[in-house]
Amino acid sequence: MQGEIYDLCIVGAGMYGSAAARHASTHSTAKVCLIGPNEPRADEWKTREILSSHYDEGRIVHIPYANPVMQVLARHTIKRFREIEKLSGIPFYSPVGTIVTVERGTSYFYHLLQEFEMHNINYVDLSEGEILKQRFPCLKLDYRDYPLFDDDRAGYVRARAMVAALKKVAHSQGCHIVDDIVEEVKKFKDGAHEIITEKGRVLKAKKVLFCTGAFTEFKKFDPLKKLKIQVNKETAAMLRISEDEKDRISSMPTFAMYRNDLADMPATAKGAYILPPIKYPDGHWYLKIGHLGTQRNPEVETLEEIKEWYKSDGDQEVLDKYSRFLIDMIPGLKVEEIKGKTCITCDSPSDLPYIDRISPTVTVAVVGNGRGATICDEVGRIAAELSLTGKWNLELSPKLFEAIFA
Ligand SMILES: Cc1cc2nc3c(=O)[nH]c(=O)nc-3n(C[C@H](O)[C@H](O)[C@H](O)COP(=O)(O)OP(=O)(O)OC[C@H]3O[C@@H](n4cnc5c(N)ncnc54)[C@H](O)[C@@H]3O)c2cc1C
Repeated sequence: MQGEIYDLCIVGAGMYGSAAARHASTHSTAKVCLIGPNEPRADEWKTREILSSHYDEGRIVHIPYANPVMQVLARHTIKRFREIEKLSGIPFYSPVGTIVTVERGTSYFYHLLQEFEMHNINYVDLSEGEILKQRFPCLKLDYRDYPLFDDDRAGYVRARAMVAALKKVAHSQGCHIVDDIVEEVKKFKDGAHEIITEKGRVLKAKKVLFCTGAFTEFKKFDPLKKLKIQVNKETAAMLRISEDEKDRISSMPTFAMYRNDLADMPATAKGAYILPPIKYPDGHWYLKIGHLGTQRNPEVETLEEIKEWYKSDGDQEVLDKYSRFLIDMIPGLKVEEIKGKTCITCDSPSDLPYIDRISPTVTVAVVGNGRGATICDEVGRIAAELSLTGKWNLELSPKLFEAIFA
């Protein structure tokens, strides 16, 4: 509200920001505001330049990441999904499991096995005999891809619904939610930061938390200096199927498939991720496949480039090769249409999010490294706590999450 001084203003209402808003607004004495634009309507896509990485229905969540730090963040996040669903009344989590495949005979295979065992994650080895066929009769995997089924809380979240759920709970706890874009945040002066928006609002806040994801570098956010972030183009192939076809392959889980030459892609791609049939807002069912690692020439540096990328159909090579790969993996799959979905992600050199207090009144929680959905609630919790109280409340060292500046 105009004139009011917030204790905390969270800029960016995506996966991290909405989670931070939910946690911050549990502090009953703190006046909290979450500001960020809603997803653009169809007629706004041409002009909108600040978008988001979560405008989608399917994001894979699972615990056995090679990086043990990610495992901790993922574990804490996933354990709260049911609570958030219950509090909001919005379902978003489908623990359908994840088939993780690694190239047979490689050292990565042994690393993965070690990770499963060390972190006590239940899995089923699907490589022996008829087990894959019995459990997932619609699938045919390449012999090179050794399948382990992670049946331990893994699956997917509907990203849009999850953000809606987090915002709904935050709002019901007293958080003000403002649908606007922040053009400028001014230095702390006279007891507050001034936050100036595209629609002409001027908000005041004692503390600011930036959760602006891949769009962090593009507005005037004093005193935040340029962070070391690589913003990457992402293309996913969306394969539309009928309701009958969806029923036929309904046993399908999610997939994370690690093999460098999978689908004959360039060396930057490290494999593929796959989502099972999910209903999209147009009322149709889609399978989705995209690249792990990066596509060719992934980097974008300006808002103009990002806007153009979102308006495009994406990288044709990704569409052609991955859709062919997925069709071969599900014998007899009847596809009605294939289209591209574009998006951006951002990466840090540490391969971890930056969660850092860069001044006594300014905190950042940015960078998902393509896995932000899996860790968002925990990142939001740590960042909210750090912003409001100055305390680092996690079993891992804050050093791991320090912001790296360009
Ligand atoms: C194709 C694709 C597939 C993915 N698959 C997975 C997956 O399977 N599993 C997984 O865990 N992750 C996945 N991710 C990554 C995941 O979606 C991101 O890591 C996650 O969305 C990051 O959350 P965030 O809050 O940092 O960014 P976002 O969700 O993008 O939120 C940032 C928000 O800040 C807002 N903002 C930016 N600038 C301003 C401003 N100036 N004023 C106001 N608001 C602003 C934006 O509008 C946006 O809503 C995928 C991403 C893509 C693109």
